[in-house]
Amino acid sequence: MAELSLQHIDKIYDNNVQAVFDFNLEVKDGELIVLVGPSGCGKSTTLRMVAGLEDISKGKLLLDGKDITQAPAKDRDMAMVFQNYALYGHMTIYENMAFSLTLRKENPNVIHKKVLAAAEILDLTSQLNKKPAQLSGGQRQRVAMGRSIVRNPKVFLFDEPLSNLDAKLRGATRREILLLHKRLKATMLYVTHDQTEALTLADRIVCMSMGHVQQVGTPLELYDRPNNIFVASFIGLPPMNMLDVAVEDGQLHGKGFTVALSEDQRALLAPYKGKRVTLGVRPEDISEGQGLEMKVVTNENLGMNTLVHGLIGDNLRVTAKLRGWANYRNGDRVTLQCNKMHFFDQETENAIR
Ligand code: ADP
Repeated sequence: MAELSLQHIDKIYDNNVQAVFDFNLEVKDGELIVLVGPSGCGKSTTLRMVAGLEDISKGKLLLDGKDITQAPAKDRDMAMVFQNYALYGHMTIYENMAFSLTLRKENPNVIHKKVLAAAEILDLTSQLNKKPAQLSGGQRQRVAMGRSIVRNPKVFLFDEPLSNLDAKLRGATRREILLLHKRLKATMLYVTHDQTEALTLADRIVCMSMGHVQQVGTPLELYDRPNNIFVASFIGLPPMNMLDVAVEDGQLHGKGFTVALSEDQRALLAPYKGKRVTLGVRPEDISEGQGLEMKVVTNENLGMNTLVHGLIGDNLRVTAKLRGWANYRNGDRVTLQCNKMHFFDQETENAIR
C-alpha cells in the first residue's frame, strides 16, 4: 500500500524565492496524480520535495501515515523517472535494469527474476542483451522505467518523462505509462506542462499556477467545471475563448455582439445583473447555428474537425472547432452558436456557479 499525504507544504528557496505555497493533497493508494501547469509554477519543486531531493520548508509529508518530512531520499522507498534517462552505454539493457539491485548486493537469482518480470511488463524481453545505443528513444525510456520497477518502490515519481520524445513516440509512450500503471497498480506522481498528458493519464489532476494549487479533480472535472479563468484557459486545446460581456436582462452584451441566456443561466447570473463578467466558450462548444456572426480569418483542417479562427462583434478574436472538413476563406461570414458557456467573476476570476 502507498498513500501519500502532503499537508500545508511550502517551499522557500535559499534566495528567498517561494516556489510552493500551502500545497495540500491526499494521494490514494494506486492513484496516478498529474501535476500540471506552465513552466515555473512549482510542480518539479513539489515532486522533488516528495522525492526528498529538496527540503520541505514548512508542512508535513506522510507516507502510509508515517511522517517522512525529514527522511533522506534513499529511505523514502520512491523511484524517480527523469526526462534525461541517462543509461549506462557500456552496459546491456539487462545490466542497466539490474544495476541498482547489483549495487545493493541483492541475491543474483532474485535480481534475475525481477529484471525478467520488469522486462516482460515493458515488452523488453527480446532487447535485454542489447546496448542502449541499439534501442529507440521510446525503448530507452522504457528501460529507465524498468530500472525503477525492479526496485519495487512504493511510489513512482515522473518528471516530464516524455518531453525528449518526438510527438508520435510521446503518444505511444504515454499509452505505455497508462498500461504500466494499470499493471503495477502503483501510486504515481507525474509532472508535466502538457495539458494533453494530464487529461489522458491522470486519475486526478493538480493544476498549479505561480506556486499555488488552482484546482484538484478528475480530468473531466477540470475540463467541464474549471474553478477559475486560469484552469479554464490552461486545460483544453485550443484554449477556451474568453470574452468580456455585460449581464443584461436575458442576454449578455459584449462589444458588438449579444448572446441569449437560458432560464438557468439567467438565474445563475442574476446577482451580476448590470455588471461585467467574463464569458468562456470552448472552441468545441461552438457550432454553426444562430446568433453569432463571425468573419473568418483563417481555417485549419485537422481531418475530422476544422479550426476556424475569426472575429466577432467589434474585432474580437474567436476560435471555433467545427465538425468535419470545412473550407472557409478569409472574409467569409459564418453564423455560430455557443452550446455551452462558462462564466467568471472579473474581480476574483473564479467561476460563477
Ligand atoms: P516547474 O517545475 O513548474 O517548471 P519549478 O518547480 O522548477 O517549476 O520552479 C518553481 C520556481 O522556483 C521558479 O520560479 C524557479 O525559478 C524557482 N526555483 C527552482 N529551483 C530553484 C533553486 N534551486 N533555487 C532558487 N529558485 C528555484
